[in-house]
Amino acid sequence: MPELLDKFGRRHTYLRISVTDRCNLRCLYCMPEEGMVFMDQDKLLSYEQIIEVAETAVKLGIHKFRITGGEPLVRPGLEQLIAGISALPGVDDISLTTNGLLLASQAAKLKKAGLKRVNISLDTMDATRFKFIARRGNLDKVWEGIEAAIEVGLSPIKLNCVLLKGVNEDEIGRFLKLSMEQPMHIRFIEYMPIGHDDKGWRDHYLPLSKVLEVANHLGYVLKQDEGPKGSGPSENWRIEGGVGTFGLIHPISEHFCKNCNRLRLTADGHIKPCLYWVDELNVRPAFGSQEAMEQLFLKAMDIKPENHEMAALLVGDKQSHVPTERRMSQIGG
Ligand code: SAM
Ligand code: SF4
Repeated sequence: MPELLDKFGRRHTYLRISVTDRCNLRCLYCMPEEGMVFMDQDKLLSYEQIIEVAETAVKLGIHKFRITGGEPLVRPGLEQLIAGISALPGVDDISLTTNGLLLASQAAKLKKAGLKRVNISLDTMDATRFKFIARRGNLDKVWEGIEAAIEVGLSPIKLNCVLLKGVNEDEIGRFLKLSMEQPMHIRFIEYMPIGHDDKGWRDHYLPLSKVLEVANHLGYVLKQDEGPKGSGPSENWRIEGGVGTFGLIHPISEHFCKNCNRLRLTADGHIKPCLYWVDELNVRPAFGSQEAMEQLFLKAMDIKPENHEMAALLVGDKQSHVPTERRMSQIGG
């Protein structure tokens, strides 16, 4: 069986699967306030179809899966998908990225279906600011989701925090303190210009060197750390004496494309070799033929670019290729 090796020698072992573009929030860095034109429900891959794609992926060496969205927990019956993927021989990790709002009521059944761990988005610990960033929802519900995840043993818990200049950068210290006091991993993420190159992005982009600056300013002694399982491109740290860890995902200030091992499957059935560029491959014509599905994955390797060029947008440089018009909620992050 061939492996998923691209032209730059990168072996692909990780597939991120988006199950919906819908969401119960409208985070200002991800979706416009008025929402989007959402995909018709009949455009979404069914869970059976997603499992068919995953089956071929596993045969080609993918052993790690993440379910994402939009907000994956708004799609009914997600546990059926988790159970189906977990049952494939060779799958050793299946995780979920969620905004946490619906997690308290679903954590137990997801865990029972085979979910191993969860990343929960938490950009602020301030309830009023939460309403500003997420434009809807309720911070208490997110905390309830985090507590439920801990209770049912979804471990390790990672909290994803997108840092925005002038919006939540003053909470870096608070998040660092949380990583000292709780056995959690705080993942600071650079704000990315996906599907939009607007002034809003340039105004609010914050390089994550700021996190290390704040840690130094607070007098923390930092030790580089392996980080929890599934740390991917994260640069991980532990504050001396702390029980948790924190990580930096800095695709713009220090891109990590040379270690990229991931592919993405959109909710409407397209394999995206790279988060950033427009290229994608429709899986629908390949249903029913494992050979055709394999060829599609191999084609994805063939067209996988060496790197994204998000940083070029900061300085207004021309880009070599066409960026995607999909927003993050239509890809899955
Ligand atoms: N709704 C779920 C959530 O928010 O966790 C899953 C989907 S969301 C698209 C996946 C991750 O992408 C979240 O952690 C979110 O904060 C992050 N994200 C969304 N838009 C982003 C952007 N423009 N730059 C960086 N991260 C972004
Ligand atoms: Fe929804 Fe997640 Fe996007 Fe926020 S980041 S709007 S929760 S998909």
